Amino acid sequence: MSCIFCQINQGALPAHALEVTEHTHAIMDKFPLSPGHIIVLSKTHASTVSALTSDERAALLDAGHRLSGALKKADDRIKDVHFLINDGPKANQHVPHVHLHIIPRYGWDLAKLPYRFMTRFANPLNYLLAEKRLSSWAVKIRNHLPNTM
Ligand SMILES: [Zn+2]
Repeated sequence: MSCIFCQINQGALPAHALEVTEHTHAIMDKFPLSPGHIIVLSKTHASTVSALTSDERAALLDAGHRLSGALKKADDRIKDVHFLINDGPKANQHVPHVHLHIIPRYGWDLAKLPYRFMTRFANPLNYLLAEKRLSSWAVKIRNHLPNTM
């Protein structure tokens, strides 16, 4: 099992988990493009959306709906979100396992996003500094979700 997201799904690697359903597992992104960035992992290992079943595809968007609602309740500065799936390596997919990004937008952050996109993996301090913040975000978001874990 070399896929990092399969390892997270099976509990072999730690993550700040938010919600678990039959087909999905939502966690905080360790390299957030903006504060509160969530990723929803498919429980099935597949590199593209078209390799999932119809139920699995629907479950990803249903989870996105619930989690974006919880995000907005967790922080009223969040105005809207991006739903983003990088569907294959030529589309910037870094881990070949289907995942839906939920990227919060704050209405004042347009200039920051391209910079974060280019640098979020480059500085190891980003990961270290983010751990405490990710834990805090996970608690705030879980307060607005049914308990599934
Ligand atoms: Zn996988």
